[in-house]
Amino acid sequence: MTCIKCGSDRIRTETLPRYQDDGLVGLANVVILNAAQKYVCKDCGEDNGISVPDVAGLQAAAAVTRVMIPVKLVGREIRFLRNALGMKAKELAERIETRADETVSRWENDQRPISARDEKMLRLLAGRILSERAKAIGFDETVIFNMKIPALSAVPLREVVMTFIRIRISVDTWAEPAAA
Ligand SMILES: [Zn+2]
Repeated sequence: MTCIKCGSDRIRTETLPRYQDDGLVGLANVVILNAAQKYVCKDCGEDNGISVPDVAGLQAAAAVTRVMIPVKLVGREIRFLRNALGMKAKELAERIETRADETVSRWENDQRPISARDEKMLRLLAGRILSERAKAIGFDETVIFNMKIPALSAVPLREVVMTFIRIRISVDTWAEPAAA
């Protein structure tokens, strides 16, 4: 690559110890450790951007992690899960056998809370499909079946922060770091 400012091809890469870009996978509070690469021009010092490996895998890892956390999903998280599944609202509504795609869009816009039953179906669907791309993230359908998801009004919403590292199983994949 060549520098966007001076055209030099002397670019050094720097691994960022911690990187968070809320636009990266379509969900806020996804943090990655020692995985993002920053490109800096050796000649003029210009910042030539940042790259993150396997963004689709990271999106899947964030989705599976989130569905295993027993905190009620809010609209933007439901949209994130649907996007991670690559489904239109209509398709999602059909897959989880809820009333209509209009319902899905109401959930996503926080105009109507998702029912506990529909939320479990969404979590199971997302976890089942996306864990194929996030093999280091623990997904357990039984935990979701047994999950008690409190009503929205019962608990104050808290921001769920999810942190990931790259590990190698048979290929490099996203994992959660050992508890700090
Ligand atoms: Zn330069």
